[in-house]
Amino acid sequence: MTIAIAIVGVGKIARDQHLPTIAASDRFALAGVVSRHAGDLGVPAADTLSALKQQVPELAAVSICTPPIGRSALIAEALGLGLDVMVEKPPAATISEAERFAAMARDAGQALYLTWHSRQANGVEPLRRWLDGRSIRRVAIEWMEDVRVWHPGQEWIWEPGIGVFDPGINALSILTRLLPAPVTMTTATLRCPANRPSPIEASLVMNSDAADAITAEFSFDQRGPQTWTITVETDGGTAVLRDGGGKLAIEGADVPLEEATEYGRLYARFAELVGSGKVDADLSPFHLVADAFLLSRRETLQPFSWTD
Ligand code: NAP
Repeated sequence: MTIAIAIVGVGKIARDQHLPTIAASDRFALAGVVSRHAGDLGVPAADTLSALKQQVPELAAVSICTPPIGRSALIAEALGLGLDVMVEKPPAATISEAERFAAMARDAGQALYLTWHSRQANGVEPLRRWLDGRSIRRVAIEWMEDVRVWHPGQEWIWEPGIGVFDPGINALSILTRLLPAPVTMTTATLRCPANRPSPIEASLVMNSDAADAITAEFSFDQRGPQTWTITVETDGGTAVLRDGGGKLAIEGADVPLEEATEYGRLYARFAELVGSGKVDADLSPFHLVADAFLLSRRETLQPFSWTD
């Protein structure tokens, strides 16, 4: 049966990924949007989920694509209306808020999927399988992009607790999927522009029983080539996951990968959860971000400008 789904927040990621993925899906049909702007989609649009549910009584699920701060009332409203809920990363503004979402969904017996799209990249599961049985000596993450290119004018991205961790949490979501043991934060240096409360760069050292050394370098100020790479050195060779997890090379040779889209896989997983009342809410990447802020040694850099 097709699941009638609404999108809340029709911004960049909703238009780039969610709308095309739903349009291509045989499990979901777009039944409406909650949006302040999107009247152009040919489906009912409303200011609130409750108003949309009145217009579209068959509405069964919702995909939350708003920024992470301000989702509490929205998710409570969705669950109160009996909807199954899928949420963009990062899941919430705080750990306690994200834990509350999961508890509310369990109490209500409704599905909740706190998604990590980068875990669905083509190279992640093949690398995870390759690592099985190997001893990991070093994991080095380099996640360097230009915020001006990928998030033009998105001022919410500089809210406390976000900054360069908006992309960086994608690397941490892959890391916590790859390693067979928990990861903890050891040291975190966060470099904030003088005129923003959140870091534009971060240098992290992490620890795990599953790896001798783990480091991460994040930048939101990377000009020229952009880098989303995780290098894993093992006792049986070196693997390099590139392009945000989309490409994998082992000992310098590209590995052929099964081609599918990250969001196609996310919606396939959500379809499994819908109607089952199950909650898929792994907060381990988010815990690492929170711990980086807890441990942070702060440095101040020159003021940030969108037009530099
Ligand atoms: P965006 O372009 O700023 O869109 C967010 C949308 O949310 C807005 O267009 C608006 O939709 C709605 N909204 C509601 N309250 C808002 C507020 N206080 N400030 C701004 N927008 C508000 O953001 P985005 O890039 O799509 O990111 C949304 C979420 O997706 C974030 O959690 C982000 O980490 C995640 N994500 C983004 C990307 C990416 O490439 N940009 C990739 C993967 C995941 P209406 O105009 O319809 O009201």
